[in-house]
Amino acid sequence: AELREARIRKTKTVCTYCGVGCSFDVWTKGRDILKVEPRMEAPANQISTCVKGKFGWDFVNSEERIVEPLVRRGDAFYSVTWDEALDVIETRIKAIQARDGYDAVGWIASSKSTNEENYLMQKLARSVMFTNNIDNCSRYCQSPATEALRRTMGLGGDTGSIRDLELADLVIIVGANPAEAHPVLSTRLRRAQKKRGQKLIVADVRRNIMAERADLFLQPRQGTDLVWLSAVTKYIIDCGKHDQLFLRDRVNGFAEFVRSLDAFTLAHASEVCGVREAELIRIAEMIMAAERVSICWAMGVTQHVGGSDTSTAICNLLLVTGNVARPGTGAYPLRGHNNVQGAGDMGCAPTFFPGYEPVANEAIRRKYEQAWKTPLPITPGLNNHQMVDAIHEGKLKALYLVGEDMAVVDSNANYVQQAFTKLEFFVVQDVFFSKTAQFADVILPACPSLEKEGTFTNTERRIQRLYRVLEPLGQAKPDWEIIQLVANRFGANWQYTSPQEIFEEACGLTELFKGATYGRLEGYRSLQWPVAADGTDTPLLYVDGFAFADKKARLYPVAWTPPITVADEYDLELNNGRLLEHFHEGNMTSRVPGIHAKVPETYVEISPALAADRKIANGALVRLISPHGRVKVRVVVTDRVSGNKIYLPLLSRRDEEAVNLLTSSDHDTATFTPAYKEMRVRMEVIEAK
Ligand code: SF4
Repeated sequence: AELREARIRKTKTVCTYCGVGCSFDVWTKGRDILKVEPRMEAPANQISTCVKGKFGWDFVNSEERIVEPLVRRGDAFYSVTWDEALDVIETRIKAIQARDGYDAVGWIASSKSTNEENYLMQKLARSVMFTNNIDNCSRYCQSPATEALRRTMGLGGDTGSIRDLELADLVIIVGANPAEAHPVLSTRLRRAQKKRGQKLIVADVRRNIMAERADLFLQPRQGTDLVWLSAVTKYIIDCGKHDQLFLRDRVNGFAEFVRSLDAFTLAHASEVCGVREAELIRIAEMIMAAERVSICWAMGVTQHVGGSDTSTAICNLLLVTGNVARPGTGAYPLRGHNNVQGAGDMGCAPTFFPGYEPVANEAIRRKYEQAWKTPLPITPGLNNHQMVDAIHEGKLKALYLVGEDMAVVDSNANYVQQAFTKLEFFVVQDVFFSKTAQFADVILPACPSLEKEGTFTNTERRIQRLYRVLEPLGQAKPDWEIIQLVANRFGANWQYTSPQEIFEEACGLTELFKGATYGRLEGYRSLQWPVAADGTDTPLLYVDGFAFADKKARLYPVAWTPPITVADEYDLELNNGRLLEHFHEGNMTSRVPGIHAKVPETYVEISPALAADRKIANGALVRLISPHGRVKVRVVVTDRVSGNKIYLPLLSRRDEEAVNLLTSSDHDTATFTPAYKEMRVRMEVIEAK
């Protein structure tokens, strides 16, 4: 809206820093961001924001923005026109496709891009480049949670809304730290604690901020959550406190599931997890006493070799106790990037079209062939983890990557960076000249969220519109415009003039979003999928049945996969995660002067006991070494971690401090999500202080 003072504008946007999906007005004058103003009608946050949402935007005017296309010649990059950059992309990719086939090229979309851009990216890969080698960076975080929800309940989304988390009598948080990674959601939980006496259980290897607020804090060993979750489930059944009516009428597989729990006694769980039996009984009692239980989880669960199975154990516990499909209950994987949900919803995955419709299903494929007027590839493609392996094996020759600093945020970063050196051709589309961009042949300047329109889908399946706050800087373009330019170079004749046209096409093809329109999303309005043709949305899933043919959920027996073992010399358990002030590796937030000044570099948290043992003090400089690499960081001594457990935030502004130089290529067996949270390292003291 144009205000009295002609040059001051306020424009609604949706935050790009986490899956809570806060929306607010941004006040601008020219390119200056004057303030961020949350509004009561904002569905996920009302008048709340966190430090990133409130103050984290000045990076859009950073002098380090890429503002024109760049092409590598030798070891240097040169500015070129868009046409010249597209010429290079067309010539090089067509040559590789002609020689090695369409599957020799990989396409990686971004869960920071809009739904419309993600829809176009998978359409580009499938209908123009004839490959299902399409994925997105939610592979790194949330695919196991989506897999678990699909296994047990049918749909890959949170079962209720953030509002349901407030209504719960008991919230259990496993392997997540919303106080730093999803701050506004944690504020809403705190309000429920204070106003309604909501109970909170936190299970985490680290005593995080949420643990301080918990009624019960459980500190299981790294990678053992499945065991205690299953033992608690078994104990509840043994007590006869499972929801027998719910199980009879709405769930399949109870008898077989009960048999699968035989090994999960309290004694066994206590031994494996390193927690007392009394604590597990207390958890079970709290669940049995609560009318409404919700469970949140995040990467502390998913980023393990058994990430999908542990996520499934959470869903099983909720089903056994009838804590699904009622207000205040449900399963809530907390999505990390702002559009993790949307990138998957829009089909940026090697095995799914939009709406999670399988590419292997002939009828579905025909539907898309008719809509896109072209034959489509049949074989499922590679996920981004497999793409890195395929580059090393010489099978994948070219990669087109949107909006992710994969050389820093993918696990086993040395292995990933080596892969990039083997690529014949590499296109990076991004806002900044990231570590990954250093390996590229062509770099295309993209727009951050404030410079584009579209929709994002937050952790509660809520689709919201963002409006253009600022014009694109220099020659930067929104991702959807770039993807269209590339598609048309390869013979497509796309004529999209706005994100709205793309959105309408995507929603028209998929039952999940059938009735979603820009009109129904105007301003602060929002819709939670599934959206029926008449525009009715679904804040709470499964009220009328689960998303299987017989409308019944499925208990899904799971077994425990012990954590990865490494040589004894690696004597410290490494954990990692986000900081309140920074988004992920910090490519955006480190370019906000106020935030950078507050937290300029990463550090490693070590326990007072470890500090005493190694005779080092706060601020000591240490080298951490794993079988895969080494980092150099300063020490913070804190009782947030205990014993030989250490914690390294994801922030990495210098080459030698990225935590993923230490992590391995091990991954969740079902989804290939890297086991970021399973690594042991050793520590050398460089400077004791
Ligand atoms: Fe942005 Fe998440 Fe903070 Fe909300 S809680 S302002 S979405 S970073």
